[in-house]
Amino acid sequence: MLELTPRAEVNERKALRINPAKTCQPVGALYAALGVHGCMPHSHGSQGCVSFHRMFLTRHFKDPVMASTSAFTEGASVFGGGSNLTNACRNLFDTYDPEIIAVHTTCLSETIGDDLNSIVSAMDIPEGKHVVYCNTPSYAGSHVTGYANMIAGFVRHLAQGGGAESGAGGADAGAGAPAATDAGAPADAGATGAKGRGGPAARQLALIPGFVNPGDMREMKRLAEAFGINYTMLPDTSGVLDAPMTGHFELYPKGGTSVADIIRLGDADATIALGEVATFAAANELRKKCGVPETMLGLPIGVRATDAYVMALADFAQRDVPWTLEEERGQLVDILIDAHPYLDGRSCALYGDADTLVGLTSAVLEMGMVPKYVFTTGPHPEMVSRCEALFEEYGLQESCLAKAEADLFELHQRVIHDRVDVLLGGTFGKQIARAEDIPLVRVGFPIIDRYVHSYMPIVGYRGGMRLVEMIANALMDRFDRDCAEEEFELVM
Ligand code: SF4
Repeated sequence: MLELTPRAEVNERKALRINPAKTCQPVGALYAALGVHGCMPHSHGSQGCVSFHRMFLTRHFKDPVMASTSAFTEGASVFGGGSNLTNACRNLFDTYDPEIIAVHTTCLSETIGDDLNSIVSAMDIPEGKHVVYCNTPSYAGSHVTGYANMIAGFVRHLAQGGGAESGAGGADAGAGAPAATDAGAPADAGATGAKGRGGPAARQLALIPGFVNPGDMREMKRLAEAFGINYTMLPDTSGVLDAPMTGHFELYPKGGTSVADIIRLGDADATIALGEVATFAAANELRKKCGVPETMLGLPIGVRATDAYVMALADFAQRDVPWTLEEERGQLVDILIDAHPYLDGRSCALYGDADTLVGLTSAVLEMGMVPKYVFTTGPHPEMVSRCEALFEEYGLQESCLAKAEADLFELHQRVIHDRVDVLLGGTFGKQIARAEDIPLVRVGFPIIDRYVHSYMPIVGYRGGMRLVEMIANALMDRFDRDCAEEEFELVM
């Protein structure tokens, strides 16, 4: 929806969102489930919901996204969808042979109050197979909340401590967390941050990425591998949604976290969770259930946030930072200095997911830019306080505005009144960019009108280099287009 008419006052709506910078919870839950190997995501609701969720992810990743549905009819909508889900899981195991089915709810099944715990507990799940679930009512939160809930669901239903056998599972693994496992952390866990599995080389890290692309997950893993760390990333959509063309359709691509590795997460020595909104629930669940202490960090976007991740890895590995990473960091700093004349003081508007926005705000401030507006539609006040702390640190508290539960309609009005040099966000800002003739750098989710983005990281030092390249090029292209003839130069 376009806001074409500048108004005397910006209209801040409380009860209505127009052009929100988010989508519904099950989209995130489905994405998380795709990051588990051999997993069939299952939408407990009507066929229309899962069609939308699959289409949305397919458009962003440009790869087919598989998921099944309980296919609610009028009867299920009135009397409950328990039998639909039970029949669906039986058919799925018989026909498509997944190792695990990850069920998420929808608005409809939440509204009628289907109790997934009761339904799944009563299922006859084949030996060695699993059914896990989470609640994703889409009238609350965002796709990032759904992603967070699904990862926490995997941990709650599968992770086991005490050297669990990887073949464990069966019906009980999917039937909800045993009460005893929720009783809290073992007495010796959490306080020391070490669970005594041997020296640094034998230690195991649980790595939980926020809502990011497969390319970002690959980069997060590469940084961990630079330290020689044994890790399990949950979820891991690399090798699933960026899998190579082989000429053969694979219902369950090679990538994804194995169920066995998720079960063993309870034996991890520590968790590093990247992105507070998306990963806190899972990290918290792993600590409560298995006593694995967590380090909560922001998404490693920009120099400082990547430094924090790299130092957390160094602490865990008990190793110095490898020269390769020092070299990359130095390259990024060099690039920031080179591009500074084109970035310093330039204003931008950022919109999208809360965790991504905190990272991007930090990164553009490092570039010398002014993030005049930082808008998320999700209910994430913690993003606002983190961004405001950054504004204050750079002396920009009077010039910048961070808002949660805001929409692109309001952002458009603000941009009309107080213009910015560049927009940073997903495809839904395209209408503002066109209407106001402002360059748009596509970053975040969803990006449904471009290619390759999901393969390329924005995290880590290399991701930082890419961000500088994208933003500086957008501004320099604009200068070339608009500058006077005598200022048009080959060398910039
Ligand atoms: S009905 Fe709810 S779960 Fe289904 S597509 Fe709409 S918002 Fe998403």
